[in-house]
Amino acid sequence: MSKPASGAASDTGRLREHNEDSYLVRPPVYAVADGMGGHAAGEVASRLALESLETAALDSDSGPKAIRSALAEANRVIFEQSSGEGPSRGMGTTCALLLLTDGAVHVGHVGDSRIYLLRGDSLTQLTRDHTVVADMVDKGLMTDEQAMTDSSRGYLTRALGGAAAVDPDVRTVTIEPKDRFLLCSDGLTTMVADDQIRLILQREADPQAAAEALVAAANEAGGEDNITALVVDPATDLAPAGKPQRRRAIGWMQAAIVLVLLTAGIIALLVSKGPLATTPGQSSSPAATTPNPESTAPPIPPRTSPSPQGLEAAGLILGWSTDAAGPTMLDRGWSY
Ligand code: CA
Repeated sequence: MSKPASGAASDTGRLREHNEDSYLVRPPVYAVADGMGGHAAGEVASRLALESLETAALDSDSGPKAIRSALAEANRVIFEQSSGEGPSRGMGTTCALLLLTDGAVHVGHVGDSRIYLLRGDSLTQLTRDHTVVADMVDKGLMTDEQAMTDSSRGYLTRALGGAAAVDPDVRTVTIEPKDRFLLCSDGLTTMVADDQIRLILQREADPQAAAEALVAAANEAGGEDNITALVVDPATDLAPAGKPQRRRAIGWMQAAIVLVLLTAGIIALLVSKGPLATTPGQSSSPAATTPNPESTAPPIPPRTSPSPQGLEAAGLILGWSTDAAGPTMLDRGWSY
């Protein structure tokens, strides 16, 4: 099986002095981070996020749970510094992460860096922005077109480093032959429409050429923000259609057998220990009594107003804008 191919480009853009975006290429892990915070803190945040992911226990056998753990650890590292005193106080970063596995990709993200899938003639956004305007679009208070140009479009509702706990969105997508994935910062998507992104991804067969063409298009459109594009082509000699499905079907059968055996074992163990010490109506399943680390996060207060000001008052805005001008840092990226 051939290796996946990828190409990446990151640029300061035409208006900024420094580049706070970062990317990571460590197959099967690919990630883009867009840092924010004054006095160089944005650069520190995005670098810390990717350094943490670089050493995370992620491989082609990892699943959504491992991605959540990796992003939680990255959040912990950044929050430790962002919640202290000093120039890093208040820093944060977006993070879009893609993990290639056999026949599927797992996608995890926090913030407004995006992951797209090009399949045939169709470009699909796999991530949903964690922004105030995206929430307003979902509530029918704003159209997609208005969200594209709204002055508050850069306000995030989630970011790494913003709170002690983070709630990433994670999903799994089955790979089909010739699928192509794009990870990018908002410096691309605020400058270049999805249709143009699709045309460039279709036109440029080489992933490095595609990434560079996307960054060039954002600069030609004004380059108002840092721009990062990371194009990933999974192995092109995937098994013919049918085989992956059969392998998965067998996998599910094995999982079902293990589950039945485990359940029988647990029942046998409980019976051997006598009556359960639970109150009527209380679940006695092991899963229900396992503490969930995320459940310790404080509840999100109700939204009292759709306006950014109202959301900020309710504590839902982290106070960062990923496209606001400010002190920014170096161009960087790691590739292995
Ligand atoms: Ca940005």
